[in-house]
Amino acid sequence: MLQLFDTASQITKELSLRKPGVVGLYVCGPTVYGPAHVGHGRAVLTYDILRRYLEFSGFEVQHVSNITDIDDKIILRANAEGRSWQEVARECEEEWWATMDAMGVLRPVEQPHATAYVEQMVELIEHLIERGFAYQTVDGVYLKAALVPDYGLLSHQSIEDRRSGARVEMDEHKEDPIDFVLWKFAKPGEPTWPSPWGAGRPGWHTECVVMSLALLGEGFELHGGGQDLIFPHHDNERAQAVAVGSRFARHWMHNGMVTVAGEKMSKSLNNFTTLNELLEHTDARSYRLLVLRAHYRSPLEVNATTIEASAAALTRIDALIRRLDGSEVSRGEIATALSTELRDRFVAAMDNDLDTPAAVAEIFEAVRRANSLADAGDVSLAARLSEEIATLLGALGIEVHQARKIDDEVRSLVEQRDSARGNRDYSTSDKIREELENLGWVVEDTAEGTRIHR
Ligand SMILES: [Zn+2]
Repeated sequence: MLQLFDTASQITKELSLRKPGVVGLYVCGPTVYGPAHVGHGRAVLTYDILRRYLEFSGFEVQHVSNITDIDDKIILRANAEGRSWQEVARECEEEWWATMDAMGVLRPVEQPHATAYVEQMVELIEHLIERGFAYQTVDGVYLKAALVPDYGLLSHQSIEDRRSGARVEMDEHKEDPIDFVLWKFAKPGEPTWPSPWGAGRPGWHTECVVMSLALLGEGFELHGGGQDLIFPHHDNERAQAVAVGSRFARHWMHNGMVTVAGEKMSKSLNNFTTLNELLEHTDARSYRLLVLRAHYRSPLEVNATTIEASAAALTRIDALIRRLDGSEVSRGEIATALSTELRDRFVAAMDNDLDTPAAVAEIFEAVRRANSLADAGDVSLAARLSEEIATLLGALGIEVHQARKIDDEVRSLVEQRDSARGNRDYSTSDKIREELENLGWVVEDTAEGTRIHR
């Protein structure tokens, strides 16, 4: 079974499941205030690949990813544009899903919105106050982080380290610099919800605790997000859950950051590249392949050169599939051994902490092998390997045109057309071409006669 590196224990291990065959996966989703950039794309693709691979391995994945539809950045943008925050959030969320669809990303099974869970967040905060883990100040309600057992478990920083690094903002009235806000009292002009402490809105770290536990239940299998979320977001999510006696997530997974020309992807560095810009230049599959060719915990360099190299690699796969499209596929022993060997190597790489670079290298090795088999005339063996390559790429979310067996009817049409052309009966040959095209085939005339492909 799949072994994954766990950020909490720093050990690569199997997921511990509550129910055999079912994985509850919570991934922190976007704050909807602007277009998705390549960093978002990497994170979303990482968890899409994980989910697809788990499903390929026979698991059911309860994939939940939230939409943060209330946040300072949404309010700032709405105020700057003289629009309502709801309108900004709704429009940005629509754009988000349109981009994700274009990227070939499977939609999460559940997409909870923060604003739909505010009552439950208020209940959680009440519970934290009752248990002595939270306190009220003039500007909000805060969590006493130092009281939480193993606070900082995910970022592996001690409370003392954290304290010396923490900065207290001017408008905060915390007892301890490491405390964090659970409920913010409303400032003029901001959206508010009622609470026992006064009108306001929840802090960001509270929403994921409530939504993950509400939809996936106690002790869910896996919590994911980018490495930039380890601290403060995930340490602070976990602190709230642990403070009310929850085990929370059993396993934590974090993907690496995207660098653009060697610098960390950041809007403030002005190297902001949106996914829509990327999709204007390249096939969505090229970006997915680029993501697959780096280990998910490593940094990923995104620039024109790395994307073009990825697009060129895809061309080699497409050419193989095209070359063998329609060829007879061997079901013999040798062909079965070839495809089984490929699948075993692929699975071994993927099960090893999602070693997608190794898994993809196996696929490219198989592409070379299938081409040399075809060169040597072993076309049906090559076609079997090519079929397996298409299946494994499909498990990673990369679709190739599946080799399609030409049935007897189609084969006979091709033969009739070749004989009509041999007799210079072009009106019959054109009619048959039309018939083949209506059946969905692309028809080419070659020196060896009619060639068809999808
Ligand atoms: Zn979150």
